[in-house]
Amino acid sequence: MSNLEAISPISPTPVSEVASWEAESDVVVVGYGCAGASAAIGAMEGGASVTILERAGAGGGASAMAGGEIYMGGGTPIQKACGFDDTPQAMFDFLMAATGPSPNEEKLSVYCDRSVEHFHWLVECGVTFKPSFYATPCWEPPTDDGLVYTGGENAWPFSDLVPPAPRGHVPQIQNKRLLERSGGWELMRHLSATVDKGGAAVRPDTRVRSLIVDDGKVVGVIARSFGQDFAIRARRGVVLASGGFAANKDMVERHVPAIAGQMALGTDGDDGTSIRLGQGVGAMVAHLDAAEAALPSNPPLVYPSLLVNQFGQRFINEDTYCGRIGQMAVFHQQGRCSLVLDEAIFESVPEAERWGARPTYVAATLAELEEEMSLPTGSLQATVETYNRFAREGRDPVFHKRQEYLRPLEAPYGGIPLDGPYATFTLGGLVTTIDGEVRGANGSPIPGLYGAGRATWGIPSWGYASGTSLGDGTFFGRRSGRAAARS
Ligand SMILES: Cc1cc2nc3c(=O)[nH]c(=O)nc-3n(C[C@H](O)[C@H](O)[C@H](O)COP(=O)(O)OP(=O)(O)OC[C@H]3O[C@@H](n4cnc5c(N)ncnc54)[C@H](O)[C@@H]3O)c2cc1C
Repeated sequence: MSNLEAISPISPTPVSEVASWEAESDVVVVGYGCAGASAAIGAMEGGASVTILERAGAGGGASAMAGGEIYMGGGTPIQKACGFDDTPQAMFDFLMAATGPSPNEEKLSVYCDRSVEHFHWLVECGVTFKPSFYATPCWEPPTDDGLVYTGGENAWPFSDLVPPAPRGHVPQIQNKRLLERSGGWELMRHLSATVDKGGAAVRPDTRVRSLIVDDGKVVGVIARSFGQDFAIRARRGVVLASGGFAANKDMVERHVPAIAGQMALGTDGDDGTSIRLGQGVGAMVAHLDAAEAALPSNPPLVYPSLLVNQFGQRFINEDTYCGRIGQMAVFHQQGRCSLVLDEAIFESVPEAERWGARPTYVAATLAELEEEMSLPTGSLQATVETYNRFAREGRDPVFHKRQEYLRPLEAPYGGIPLDGPYATFTLGGLVTTIDGEVRGANGSPIPGLYGAGRATWGIPSWGYASGTSLGDGTFFGRRSGRAAARS
């Protein structure tokens, strides 16, 4: 049973209850991740004074932990330098197919049309992208290469629909340390420097607890710092950018139970506060049941292997984006699947790229392996027999895996259970216009309220591609700040 308090809308504070304003600025930004930083920069570009309120001791959020892939395309200089043709239309067509069902067509349209412009804006903020392509399938390049496939663009079914192009742009960083100090950290370093240069007031250790409303308009926030509550006035607007809700166990259980018990990727700040603050003033929300879910394995091992569910059957092409595989496994296979491979495949994957994985089960025959893995009798044998028959002909009529990853399995065989934990974060949130205005229940913007990043429904609706989170956070973050400054 969910704790109702943790999932309920947060009621706003009427301005009549505010005795005094502790501080004020044109725009107040809640949360200092990539979306908050970009909103602050956008607002300052629009001539507004800005205060950023951050609950942690410093900015960064999940953004600073990220691999740093930023989904951009349509013919960026990096794509061109690496020899890839891309157009805004191809990018749009891919994202329409890959981020649904029910993709955010309005946002996708402006996001793709202005993607090259966004690339140049990030470069102006100081982010460097090396014009080199990392070809090995990966979660994020271990090198400083600047371009990588991050969404299964070159795999079925998308490769049949749209000419593939890689769009994961990775900030170049010296002494990269994966999962510690990677592209996201570098992105935030430059966005923060730009925030500082613009003169925004940054207040760490300050947690926003409620919105202040005056006759239906959001005019400020109540925040708490070291036990003291105070009011901060926003003359033009408040931007909600405090991330998603993967760390709010009750919200996860209520809205997206398929990922309950899996690993929440991000920070404790991902507790859904922005979403609940918005709901408290009547905001519309969407796709709260959507989440990214990373398969707990490394793509170089997954691509040439077979992936089977608890019934010994394949359920997806193994050579696609492993976040897509993870979603299919968590949402459609109860988070239970296994890699099935043979000795030759295992040995063909460099040790560093196996991430320490070793077969839990090893057997001389498929019948034996199937029994050890507690799969239904005959199921794995039938799956491998079909796979092998067509692999020998260089094709996969079931899931259309690319020929380069197709190889018939031969004894001895191995099985590696991938029952979790899947690293997850939520994708749904406040419904906003393309300028970040938060829509109320009737669809009209709520005066004075803006939102961006994982607190909102952005580029991913259900389907995900790596880079769309930092991508929409920075892109719509900046637009929301600019719109707030204009209001
Ligand atoms: C290991 C890892 C790898 C990832 N790799 C990628 C990748 O390569 N590409 C990609 O696109 N995405 C990636 N992601 C996802 C991506 O990092 C996040 O979805 C994205 O950064 C969210 O940005 P945001 O600005 O909305 O939220 P955040 O970056 O989380 O920022 C929100 C901020 O708000 C603060 N906050 C929360 N509540 C309050 C409050 N009440 N008052 C004040 N402040 C508050 C938080 O402390 C936090 O600093 C990755 C995530 C992780 C953890």
